[in-house]
Amino acid sequence: MKAEIVEGWPKENSIRISLSETDASQVNAIRRALISDVPKLAITRVNISQGVVESDGQILESVNVLPDEMLTHRLAMIPIPTFPKEKLEFFETCPVCIDMVEAEKGCPQCQVLYSLNVQGPTADSEEDTITVYAGDLTTISDPMFDIKEEHRRIPVTILSKGQYLELYAFATLGRGANHSKWSPVAGVGFSGKNVAKLNNAKNAEALFDLDLKTSDGRPIDAKLFGKGKVVDDVNTVMDLERALHQVGPGTGRDSDFKDAITLEPVEGSYVLTYETDGSLDPVTAFNLAMGELADRFSGLNEEISAALK
Ligand SMILES: [Zn+2]
Repeated sequence: MKAEIVEGWPKENSIRISLSETDASQVNAIRRALISDVPKLAITRVNISQGVVESDGQILESVNVLPDEMLTHRLAMIPIPTFPKEKLEFFETCPVCIDMVEAEKGCPQCQVLYSLNVQGPTADSEEDTITVYAGDLTTISDPMFDIKEEHRRIPVTILSKGQYLELYAFATLGRGANHSKWSPVAGVGFSGKNVAKLNNAKNAEALFDLDLKTSDGRPIDAKLFGKGKVVDDVNTVMDLERALHQVGPGTGRDSDFKDAITLEPVEGSYVLTYETDGSLDPVTAFNLAMGELADRFSGLNEEISAALK
């Protein structure tokens, strides 16, 4: 199998990857590895302070509109920056704390610690509520684990006057197979790679006359196809696939168009598209998925040879 990032990607957390010399089951294995097997950090344990405190003569109570379960679920889904090269240990198998009793487990090798302390509006404030955001989480571990700028405005809950929220949150490595909070990707899909062929420039005017544009702003017309009358650039072919819906069955234009442009599959080639939640960049997520698959299949080989002896 050969993998190549499609030109112009990744864009922020989204990517298109061109895969060749492969088949659908292998590409699907990568898709599944991205969703279920690539480890990332997520908040998995939260200690919420309970009680009444006094602050500047104001009495504050540890209540808010959300049940604790909902609050912890929201915290769990906040993307936590993950750095595979830092070699954090999995909580369950951490060599430092594996022999400790359950309540004492967790150390700098296997978890990242956050604190949050927000108070509702002061008694004389004009605001009735304050929103608690993901950005209110402060890293107690290394500052590199600070919630990323793009995620800081994720709302967690609101606090009214006389309310406060104080908690410690522990993020650990996990896999999407156990809980979706540990799945680093969304919208993972793939389709067969095509080239677009211009069979009849005259009939194709049914499409060209619509003045459609590619996603990078070029007009969809005969020039796009060049002398060879073929488009093989992945992004342009995907734009054409979308444009062809305008002249397909049910549009009233299909009888004029008469398959003037056709999509021809490229044998053994696929385009994989997905985006990450931002905890990992999409290239890192792909490489980790390939690593997970390589580990699994080499493990499988050993097991099979062991079984046949
Ligand atoms: Zn540990």
